Amino acid sequence: MSERPVPVLFSGKDTCCACGACLNICPMDAVSMEEDDCGFRYPKIDESRCVRCGRCKAVCAFQHTDVPNSPVATFAAVARDRELASRSASGGIFAALAKKIAAQGGVVFGAAMKPDFSVCHRACEQDSLAVLQGSKYTQSDTVLTFREAKAALEQGKTVLYSGTPCQIDGLKSFLGRDYTNLLTADIICHGVPNGRMFREYIDSLGKAHGGAVEHFTFRDKRIGWGENGSAVIGGKRVKIWQSGASYPYYFSHGDLQRESCYRCPYACSHRPADLTLGDFWGIEKQHPEYLGRGGWDESEGISVVVANTKKGEDFLAVCDDMIDCKPSTFEKAAAGNAQLCRPVAGGKRDEIMQTYRDGGWDALEKRYESNIGFHKHASRVKSMLPKALKRKLKAGKK
Ligand SMILES: Cc1cc2nc3c(=O)[nH]c(=O)nc-3n(C[C@H](O)[C@H](O)[C@H](O)COP(=O)(O)OP(=O)(O)OC[C@H]3O[C@@H](n4cnc5c(N)ncnc54)[C@H](O)[C@@H]3O)c2cc1C
Repeated sequence: MSERPVPVLFSGKDTCCACGACLNICPMDAVSMEEDDCGFRYPKIDESRCVRCGRCKAVCAFQHTDVPNSPVATFAAVARDRELASRSASGGIFAALAKKIAAQGGVVFGAAMKPDFSVCHRACEQDSLAVLQGSKYTQSDTVLTFREAKAALEQGKTVLYSGTPCQIDGLKSFLGRDYTNLLTADIICHGVPNGRMFREYIDSLGKAHGGAVEHFTFRDKRIGWGENGSAVIGGKRVKIWQSGASYPYYFSHGDLQRESCYRCPYACSHRPADLTLGDFWGIEKQHPEYLGRGGWDESEGISVVVANTKKGEDFLAVCDDMIDCKPSTFEKAAAGNAQLCRPVAGGKRDEIMQTYRDGGWDALEKRYESNIGFHKHASRVKSMLPKALKRKLKAGKK
């Protein structure tokens, strides 16, 4: 009898999202992640260890997407603890959910940035939840957290696992069955660039400011609710305007994302997690009644929360003391949030990747400075200011 072949894990680069399910499920630890020429990670099988069981291939959810969920309820929401929300990118919903789970003795899994600026998933309990707060706009490595989550679930612990929708679908496929003690949360996702490019950007940012970057946050609420961040370089805080800095600019334009993100099957109303979290962009048009006197302060960040399952909806009700939810609809939330309807589009992606292959991040930085640059596009920078601030500036001019 001939030996079964080593599985072929993906056919084209856009058919692998690097969720890590194949690596987590391999009983022989024969699967590892390897970077391609641009820094995107793809699974590779060590043939000498592989026993040809085929579990790595069978567990792939991305290639056989079948998400039966559709929205049960949609809300505009904020965490009642505004101090907690001030450290989050959006309304602080994730932090409130995490606190609730941890208070029950549960474990929370999410993406954390390490001091070397790599981003990995990790497990946290009550005292370490803060490291999971905030958006890190680069792909998080799930490492062996699917196995860790399974072990915690089987010990009877309550688990909240959060991540991109492809990571959640990968986790569910890895687990292979429902657990009543598991709650999942996915983020509305504009797609993920990779860690190598991000770290090279951090180096170039440090060089440009004559010091090492000590801290970086993609979204800093001190600037308001928007997509502007900050870095600490040589002890000084530097503002990072989304359209005034290379990496955030390329990311927002969809030029740096992983190939699979451009055909993301989850950028729609069929989402794998119990809850979907995102920004309620356009709240002032869709729900002006929730803002202003007696209502929410937009500058503090307002989230959209979609309950995709009854379990998600029920858990939100349990969190009523921590999360202020007001009714909305999926259509209203999607009106200002393209990635609830379709995958990210990347007009210049091919050109950008070629420039990177030829000259690394320095070449992309040069391209940004000469073609785009902060000084050339002050109007675009203005367009990225937090909405509430823009309205205040406008009112001040009158
Ligand atoms: C790459 C990326 C793209 C996004 N695109 C959009 C978008 O197009 N529209 C939109 O409305 N919202 C988007 N978001 C989500 C948004 O930025 C907020 O994270 C979300 O609204 C939750 O906000 P919060 O205040 O509740 O929690 P926060 O404290 O801000 O977020 C923390 C949560 O985000 C998760 N997270 C952070 N970084 C990553 C990562 N790299 N990979 C996986 N999970 C991560 C953490 O695990 C945790 O669950 C994106 C987030 C990321 C990371």
